[in-house]
Amino acid sequence: MNLIMFGPPGAGKGTQARRLVEERGFVQLSTGDMLRAARKSGTPLGERVAAIMDRGDLVSDDIVIALIEEQLEANPGVPGFIFDGFPRTVPQAQALDRLLQGRGQKVDLVINLRVEDEDELVRRVQKRAVEEGRADDSAEVLHNRLKNYNALTAELLTYYESQGSVRHVRGLDPIEDVARQTGQILDEEKGKLTQRAG
Ligand code: AMP
Repeated sequence: MNLIMFGPPGAGKGTQARRLVEERGFVQLSTGDMLRAARKSGTPLGERVAAIMDRGDLVSDDIVIALIEEQLEANPGVPGFIFDGFPRTVPQAQALDRLLQGRGQKVDLVINLRVEDEDELVRRVQKRAVEEGRADDSAEVLHNRLKNYNALTAELLTYYESQGSVRHVRGLDPIEDVARQTGQILDEEKGKLTQRAG
C-alpha cells in the first residue's frame, strides 16, 4: 500500500510517517529529508537547492521527481511507501502516478493532516525551530512556505479527491491521537484492498 502524508508545513507529516515506518515497515520517502541530506554532504545538488530552500520556495519538479524515482528503484518489494512532503505540485502528482503505474502500483491513500487554525500551526513550527534548529522555520520563511502550500500544494487535494483516495485527520490534535486515527484509517483501507483482491 502506498500512501501520501499530506498537509501544510508543521502539520506533523514527518512525525507520523516515521511512526508508520517503525510500526508497519513502510519506507518513508521525504524529499525534504533527501534535499537536506544533499546539502549536508555538500553535493552539487545540495548547492543548487540551498538558496531556494532557505527562502522557503519549492525546488524544481524535475529535481524532486528524479529523487523519488531513484528511491523507488532502490527499494523493490517493500510493503509500501509513505510519501512525505511529496508531491507538492500537480506535475509532481502526475509524475508519481506514472512512476507507480510503471510498477503496477498506485497511490492507495492520502491522509490529509487538516489544519484549521494557521496561527496555532505557526506557534507550533516556531517551537520546532527552537528545538531542532531548522533555519527554514523562521517566521518569515515559514510565512513563505505556507503561502506556497496554499498557492501550489493545497489544490492537490482536489486531484486526489477525484481519485477517491483522501481521508482527513485533525493535524493539530495530540500526536498520539493523530497516530491512532491514522492507524485506524490504514487498517480500514487495507481491509478494503484485501477484499477487492479476494
Ligand atoms: P519539507 O521538509 O518537506 O518541508 O521540505 C523542506 C524544503 O525542501 C521545502 O521548503 C522546499 O524548499 C524543498 N522541498 C521538499 N520537498 C519538495 C517538493 N516535493 N517539491 C519542491 N520542493 C520541495
